[in-house]
Amino acid sequence: MALDPPTMLTLSIALAAAAALYLAVEWRSIRETSLLFWSAGFATITLGSTLALLRSSGLLLIGIWFANGLLVLAHWFFLLGVARFTQARLSRAWYLIFVAWLALLLLPDEPSWSKLMFLANSLLVAVLSLRASFLLRPHGKSLSVGTVQLRYVLLLHGMFYLAKSITAVVPGTLIDLAAFRGEIIQISLVEGVMAIMLIALSMTGTERYRREKRIERLAARDPLTALYNRRALDVRAPRLLEEVSSARPGALLLIDIDNFKLVNDQYGHTAGDRLLVALSEMIRSLLPDGALAARLGGDEFVILLSQASGERIEALGSALRERFHQLTSQTFATPVAVTLSIGANLFDQPPASLAALIEQSDAALYESKRGGRDSIRLVDRTLASDT
Ligand code: GH3
Ligand code: MG
Repeated sequence: MALDPPTMLTLSIALAAAAALYLAVEWRSIRETSLLFWSAGFATITLGSTLALLRSSGLLLIGIWFANGLLVLAHWFFLLGVARFTQARLSRAWYLIFVAWLALLLLPDEPSWSKLMFLANSLLVAVLSLRASFLLRPHGKSLSVGTVQLRYVLLLHGMFYLAKSITAVVPGTLIDLAAFRGEIIQISLVEGVMAIMLIALSMTGTERYRREKRIERLAARDPLTALYNRRALDVRAPRLLEEVSSARPGALLLIDIDNFKLVNDQYGHTAGDRLLVALSEMIRSLLPDGALAARLGGDEFVILLSQASGERIEALGSALRERFHQLTSQTFATPVAVTLSIGANLFDQPPASLAALIEQSDAALYESKRGGRDSIRLVDRTLASDT
């Protein structure tokens, strides 16, 4: 198959149309505005490449000035999408690009016309692509795979256009836009097809990866307190539990609010919710490094510690109980105090399972409740294994 310009342009039209459609369909499910901008960019390329085919019919103003202008506009849409994706603000100066393009209409009709048009087009596309790539730099956070891909594809694309603009100023280079003559134009058409594919693929990857991360984050968190939920604890606990040894005992504290129903009944469910959030914040602020905290459900929370000791458990439990009691005694006038009961379990052998561990702490918690609440019960299995 001959890679003649009309064939390459037809390929570009088909690919860009597919990319525009694909990104629009993605937008329907993800609803990220950047996808719409990118889709608009590819739709613009579809139109621009179609108009470029008209050069063979002698329609040079539409086929060159207008078609290349649409190529610049498409890259402008790409930049807008990237700015939206990275939540960056673009300076109004970027709109001057269109003024520059209009000014090209004033170019005198002489032999250098084609080269000047080529130079302006290459420079503008390069600047827009490089700016978009620059916006995607890491900013201190590590980038997702999709974002890194888009960043480098845009960088390479921008560099390619920069190189193109340099070749235009080299004396003797053949650039005939009207007849698509000149090696640079041929290479450029091939690069165009590749760039459409790579840019579209990395754009969809970018948003998809971000959405997956968001869903992953949401699925791991309790919606009210934003602590881990039971599922997330199940996933994260094994690593901590495997490290347990007699030199690094572990502990699991099961925490339940005493008489929580009174808060709900007397002050309403919203007040109850606020108390749950306040408790979760206390837990978070007292949580040692490397420890895990989760809300199991209702008014029940769990803390999983590594490098634990009886003293550390007592200290953590007392600090939590005191702070909590101080808050509830000042906020709620209930017939019986709203306090914390804690059942804890210290162990130096990896347990059979997290569920077994929770069950053991639950027994200790039950003892604490039965013993009059507002207390901590600790079962020290390191002593049991010693004796
Ligand atoms: P006890 O001292 O024996 O622990 O009794 P309690 O009143 O604290 O009640 P219990 O622990 O048996 O039950 C917890 C209650 O918490 C039951 C439910 O009405 C309430 N609850 C569960 N989830 C939520 C929630 O998300 N928000 C609010 N406000 N209340 C909740
Ligand atoms: Mg309770």
